[in-house]
Amino acid sequence: MDLDKLRETAAEVAARDDVKYLIGWEKGSYGYRVAPAFAEDADGTADMIFSPLCTANLATYLTLVEKLPLPRGQEPDNRKVALMVKGCDSRAVAQLLVEKGIHRDEVVVIGCPCPGMVDPALLSEKYPETEEIAELKWSDDGFIIVRNGEETAVPREELLAEKCRLCRYPNPVVSDIMLDEPVESWEPAEDEEVTEIEGKEVEGRWDYWQQEFSNCIRCYSCRNVCPLCYCQDCILDRINPSWVFRSVNFSENTAFNIARAFHLAGRCIECGECERVCPANIPLGKINRKLAREVRDKYGFEPGLDPESEPFQASYKPDDPEDFIL
Ligand code: SF4
Ligand code: SF4
Ligand code: SF4
Repeated sequence: MDLDKLRETAAEVAARDDVKYLIGWEKGSYGYRVAPAFAEDADGTADMIFSPLCTANLATYLTLVEKLPLPRGQEPDNRKVALMVKGCDSRAVAQLLVEKGIHRDEVVVIGCPCPGMVDPALLSEKYPETEEIAELKWSDDGFIIVRNGEETAVPREELLAEKCRLCRYPNPVVSDIMLDEPVESWEPAEDEEVTEIEGKEVEGRWDYWQQEFSNCIRCYSCRNVCPLCYCQDCILDRINPSWVFRSVNFSENTAFNIARAFHLAGRCIECGECERVCPANIPLGKINRKLAREVRDKYGFEPGLDPESEPFQASYKPDDPEDFIL
């Protein structure tokens, strides 16, 4: 992607009177880090980037902002928020529109057609980072790592993030401005991880998740980073009644993770952010993708594709394949 064009467009949008601020990405302070960038005017967009390191789904900020309490007497700033989106991020925006978590006239969506992101953990493992700020670029058949003044070409398959191997929608599904021509979609890989778990006996599945959930430290990073976990009053925080106790043990950890997964069924857009930020390396994507597969196979529904569609869990059709529906 042409970074000059990106910055020029971002500057124009950030300077608009009806835009409160623009959210994009910029280099972090060391190594491979890339940080979200908030620009309140054109000057703030001068260092914005789009690279294979821009994994963070910025749509999360659209709803976080609504949670901030206003000081007494202060009027809300109702101008639009502009944000840059990859294909998966745009599905979060579309799903938020479906759920009326945001309204269309509150956002300016800047689409970034996405050739695929690197897996940050894999990258650091194979090409250890240093304090120096490193960069990544796309090449015709992979990535180019620029660090310590040297360029290293890496084949795409070596570092591509799992969610990108499986990606069916690399181009934004909703946008006001597109920063580039659409990328050519690739054949998504078979989701062998989910198939493998499906192939286990019930006891085997239980053992697997018992081991994984036992490692959960209930930091709630998965919930906080998720663009679709935005209830102001999360059921998991309630005290009376208390649906899930705060103790960190297998029973409560399981209740937490299963409750979250089911609340995301038919809503999760498979951006992979929950798994990326989990400090305990719990493969949360496997749960979400299993539920997404069920919803897709049984109901032919995929969330976050059509902002005009009805919410999956709140719509009903007479031919739904459920015997108990009269
Ligand atoms: S899942 Fe698709 S849109 Fe999202 S980062 Fe990967 S390739 Fe890009
Ligand atoms: S991010 Fe991981 S460790 Fe933290 S609450 Fe979620 S599953 Fe548990
Ligand atoms: S549950 Fe995970 S993969 Fe699904 S939308 Fe939330 S952060 Fe993304």
